Amino acid sequence: MAQRHPLQITLALIKPDLSANGPKVLKVLKHIEENQFRILAHRRLLWSKLDAEAFYGEHRGKFFFERLCGYMTSGHFHALILEKPGAITDWRALIGPTHPPRARLNAPDTLRSLYGMTDTRNSFHGSDAIDTALKEISFFFPDFDTSGWKEESIRAHDDKA
Ligand code: ADP
Ligand code: MG
Repeated sequence: MAQRHPLQITLALIKPDLSANGPKVLKVLKHIEENQFRILAHRRLLWSKLDAEAFYGEHRGKFFFERLCGYMTSGHFHALILEKPGAITDWRALIGPTHPPRARLNAPDTLRSLYGMTDTRNSFHGSDAIDTALKEISFFFPDFDTSGWKEESIRAHDDKA
């Protein structure tokens, strides 16, 4: 059957505040799979200040930039490649609005509403477009084949069917 949305990959982060709580991370991973995302790759890592500044370069100069980089270097966190038809939009919908207090008001079932703490410590990241998803995936997973994954994934599905 034809998919309504093209198969996509996106980069998801479970940020340090939430990553510090193992049982909550397991719950989130289960929630991700229950929402029909396939986890193609997963790593746990710790960032230097330079890593954080490079990844969040678009926000350099904003009032929250230092706070954001401090938060993202405060502990280990998880990076995942998620695959699903319409993955980019779907993952951002599942995590909800950037600011957890706003998410709790307007989108109470979203992950940032359930787990996020403050405007900075909002527990999740999701790529916002196809080009940024590929760039962000390569940032965390330089060995991942961003041009060949789709063919490989479709072939793996066909083999199982
Ligand atoms: P998103 O992560 O939803 O794409 P942005 O790209 O605008 O949001 O911001 C990147 C990250 O910077 C956010 O996830 C959050 O951790 C932090 N941030 C964004 N806006 C603010 C703000 N007004 N105050 C404090 N931190 C913020
Ligand atoms: Mg963003």
